[in-house]
Amino acid sequence: MVSERAKSVKPSPTLSLSAKAKALKAQGIDVVSFSAGEPDFDTPDNIKQAAIKAIEQGFTKYCPVDGIPELKEAIIEKFRVDNGLEYKPSEIVVSCGAKHSIYNVLQAVVNPGDEVLIPSPYWVSYPDMAALAGGVPVIVEGKEENGFKVTPDDILSKVTDKTKVFILNSPCNPTGAVYSREELEALGRALLDTKILIISDEIYEKLIYDGERHYSIASVVPDLKSRTVVVNGVSKAYSMTGWRIGYAAGPEDVMRACAKIQSQSTSNPTSISMAASVEALKGPQDAVESMRREFEQRRNVLVDGLNAISGITCFKPRGAFYAFPNVSGLFGRTIGGREIKSSMDFSEVLLDVARVAAVPGSAFGAEGYLRMSYATSMENIREGLKRIKELVEG
Ligand SMILES: *Cc1c(COP(=O)(O)O)cnc(C)c1O
Repeated sequence: MVSERAKSVKPSPTLSLSAKAKALKAQGIDVVSFSAGEPDFDTPDNIKQAAIKAIEQGFTKYCPVDGIPELKEAIIEKFRVDNGLEYKPSEIVVSCGAKHSIYNVLQAVVNPGDEVLIPSPYWVSYPDMAALAGGVPVIVEGKEENGFKVTPDDILSKVTDKTKVFILNSPCNPTGAVYSREELEALGRALLDTKILIISDEIYEKLIYDGERHYSIASVVPDLKSRTVVVNGVSKAYSMTGWRIGYAAGPEDVMRACAKIQSQSTSNPTSISMAASVEALKGPQDAVESMRREFEQRRNVLVDGLNAISGITCFKPRGAFYAFPNVSGLFGRTIGGREIKSSMDFSEVLLDVARVAAVPGSAFGAEGYLRMSYATSMENIREGLKRIKELVEG
């Protein structure tokens, strides 16, 4: 009964691991989970109140498909102030999460057989979304010695006459890598000579550490703006993952195509969530900074703790809320009664023996690593580190 298209989609490996950890927890087993893909903070109260007010005022009906004008205005202002980018309302589409925004853009621009360049380690959804649009994902390896970032040469070596899209994600899930202004400029210049559309997924823009700054490639290389779709949303910055609001800004023809696709699938994003997102973007921003600071402290403890375990080394992430330790030094050893040959083996032993959940790097196209989310309490981080150290060092 099921279509070839549906059969081709792989279930999200990050979600299946969280499900296994949850099932163990439900049995009363004490699991320390580093698998979360969302902030562990509550949505700030001013945002919740805006939603409650919207419900009470009857703001519960169909809305413009591509977003209410107040939210588009707030998004336009955000791009102007934070990113130095100017957009018209017709160049913005609000969707049901940034994931939906990326899905729409790929559906809007990819023809069968078109190639989509995806740097690895990558967010798990990119290759499947590209394939669902009929495209061919082409992976460009971001090496650890380059800070998990791709260079202009890495990209250009994979460009063919079928290359249609390049997906950039800075700050990056799963590595926490952040491209500098100079690195974006170099990538952007290299892409100027092509016809490739850039999707810049900037969902972790606000979660950035060590005094680093986030830059948008469309503002660093202005000549590229007409070929760049910037994707962002409220999920990660405002701890609003369940509200499902994301947005895209880009060339009008692509954005109108996205709106058309959206009009025949989801229609408008939830009216109540859109009202809440206006408050998120225009209201006080201090909650964002306090969450960012907390994440930075946790990152320091997690990364230092991982580097203190023999056989594990951990790159210092500069953004998002994930550490991406290299565990290949453990390969060939017997740990917890099992010979470790892959990141999947290690993550299974971690869960089965040490009761620690972390996602194997292979899920992100990078064998030899684990993804460990620090969107969990400091107490859990310390306990998890202790368990891993005991397991590995015996
Ligand atoms: C979480 C995440 C998103 C999507 O978030 P939404 O909840 O759909 O807005 C997009 N890209 C990356 C890299 C993410 O980690």
